Amino acid sequence: MRNIKKRLGVWSAAALFTVFITLVAYVALRSASVVPVLMYHSFQAEEDKLVPCVSPEIFAVQMEFLAKNRYNVVGPEKIIAYMTGIEKMPAKTAAITADDGYYNFYKNAYPVLKKYNLPATIFIATDKIGASGYLGWKELGEMSDSGLITIGSHTRSHPWLPSVSVDEEKLWDELAHSKEILEKGLGRRVDFICYPSGAFNDLTKETAKKAGYKGAFTTNPAKKSGIDDIYAIRRIKMSSASVNPVILWGKISRYYAWFKERR
Ligand SMILES: [Zn+2]
Repeated sequence: MRNIKKRLGVWSAAALFTVFITLVAYVALRSASVVPVLMYHSFQAEEDKLVPCVSPEIFAVQMEFLAKNRYNVVGPEKIIAYMTGIEKMPAKTAAITADDGYYNFYKNAYPVLKKYNLPATIFIATDKIGASGYLGWKELGEMSDSGLITIGSHTRSHPWLPSVSVDEEKLWDELAHSKEILEKGLGRRVDFICYPSGAFNDLTKETAKKAGYKGAFTTNPAKKSGIDDIYAIRRIKMSSASVNPVILWGKISRYYAWFKERR
């Protein structure tokens, strides 16, 4: 009797172990092309209830972490190549994005990115260019010309796009004209867009495609679309709290991005 019990114990342990290994292999396989895309907004020391902020010091720590640990930090073209399977994504890959075009990106984030030679993408709502607290054409041009910073559209007036969808002319204006304005001002192609507040519907995606964008970014899990949808690329919200190396490693790992997408 005791022998049978012992055998059963060994078998259940073996079964559990097999399930565990299968699960690990499954997650590793399924997350192989999920690019951890970090999302930032404002780079300022003081907290702000309305805008997600990261302090310049903590941002520097986060970027040093990526550089020292030799992360493969990529721009949007590579994200698309990995997501569509054109290229195989290296294990330690991440991308950096910042929304809204605050002037403090130029003042507090750009020097750090230059120091570590890390590429980033910023998404600009064109109506705000040159407004108080926002980037002007001078900074946008300088950063775009550096080759390190990709400039993308964040529409013209930062509206909630699913509501704009009832007015197709306005939707076209927000998506296509913001692209034209940026291309004219920068003298180069603008291939990517980020939906304000990550909000979109099927018409938003179709219109983004029709306007000539190669890909579009959103915020957190967008359950309506697949993980390989290049017109709904998910991102990970970063804050000053993400500074502990273990938390940082976890957040930047593709597993975190993959698990977030399951929820
Ligand atoms: Zn925004």
